[in-house]
Amino acid sequence: MNYRCPKCQSTKIIPMASATGPRPQVPKSLLILVPSILLLALLLAISIVFLILDKSAGPVLNGATILVVLSCIVSGFMFWRDLPNFKISMQSFMQSQKQWKCRECQHEWQNQ
Ligand SMILES: [Zn+2]
Repeated sequence: MNYRCPKCQSTKIIPMASATGPRPQVPKSLLILVPSILLLALLLAISIVFLILDKSAGPVLNGATILVVLSCIVSGFMFWRDLPNFKISMQSFMQSQKQWKCRECQHEWQNQ
């Protein structure tokens, strides 16, 4: 099927909400991975600030960083294993969507 707007060929298309259609199954690992990465970015930013201020980050911050890195690795690995199923789930979700809208030109159309 076509994932482009038939009018302007933009890929910025969104399915119009259909309450009855199936929802894609988001793997739990992704729900852990995303906040872990955000938390890691935050901890790294704090560590850099400490480095700039020439202060020791302290064992709590170091410990927290190690824990978050481990959480990223574990959930990243789990997500990598969930990825094939997630792709299938997303594809069937995309295919079940009939009503689409283009965010570029506001064109609306129906598949099939
Ligand atoms: Zn368009």
